[in-house]
Amino acid sequence: MEALKNKVAIVTGGSGGIGRAIVKMLAGQGCQVAFNYAHNEEAAQSLIDEITPIKVKCLAHRIDVTDFDAVKKWVEKVKEGLGGLDILINNAGIIIDKALMMMTQEDWQKVIDVNLNGMFNVSRNCIVTFLKQKKGQIVNISSISGVTGLARQTNYSASKGGMNAFTKSLAKEVAAYGVKVNAIAPGFIETDILSGLSESQREQVLKSIPLGRIGRAEEVAECVKFLLSDDAAYITGQILQIDGGLAIT
Ligand code: NAP
Repeated sequence: MEALKNKVAIVTGGSGGIGRAIVKMLAGQGCQVAFNYAHNEEAAQSLIDEITPIKVKCLAHRIDVTDFDAVKKWVEKVKEGLGGLDILINNAGIIIDKALMMMTQEDWQKVIDVNLNGMFNVSRNCIVTFLKQKKGQIVNISSISGVTGLARQTNYSASKGGMNAFTKSLAKEVAAYGVKVNAIAPGFIETDILSGLSESQREQVLKSIPLGRIGRAEEVAECVKFLLSDDAAYITGQILQIDGGLAIT
């Protein structure tokens, strides 16, 4: 796709399930990509190895999105290394699911810190570049949990609900500068994040999805591709739900 060829993108949490599919999609479209991760160096290296034959530049760095100063240095390094910045995908995220009565202050703060403050840290360090060049796109990977709420996810729902509100506010703020901001709200997608589900929980999940199956990370990446394409040039401030019908009301 011409809209992505030779562009430069940052993808946070690029080594995980959905991030990985997004990095691969972008690289496949000729986009240069820098991604970060928090712990799993092996997963990051295996992604770099997969991208190498495509012959686009791809950089991986171990950077915690909760560390504002480290993120600032990383964004500068990426701009220098890849020659600019056009796209930011805020994808890094964690869950610590518990009923509120069992949730500790740490469980609450950790999820808010990675999912919400992390998004602020990276967006804040990219936005000036986008405003100065009068072009740029942000796609936030949110969740259905931030739209409809989900039991045992008050911390996660609050973080993703915050992300959705941030998306709309920032879209209004920067549209006049040619910068677009959208979010994608997936339902259940097959990645490590779901590995904690028991067989019976998985059965319950499947029953709740009208299309009767869990989604694939590649299907989320295709939504990202659409939002970044010229076909979506008139779309900003939207939360695109990809959930097999889970949140139909
Ligand atoms: P995943 O496979 O667990 O991947 C998470 C990624 O985020 C990994 O690369 C991880 O790096 C990185 N990460 C975690 N904490 C970080 C930090 N502090 N700083 C930098 N990177 C960090 O999860 P996923 O399922 O692909 O989820 C990706 C996004 O989609 C998340 O925002 C999630 O909330 C959202 N989402 C997922 C689903 C689903 O069903 N899978 C549904 C709705 C929304 P390490 O592995 O190195 O720690």
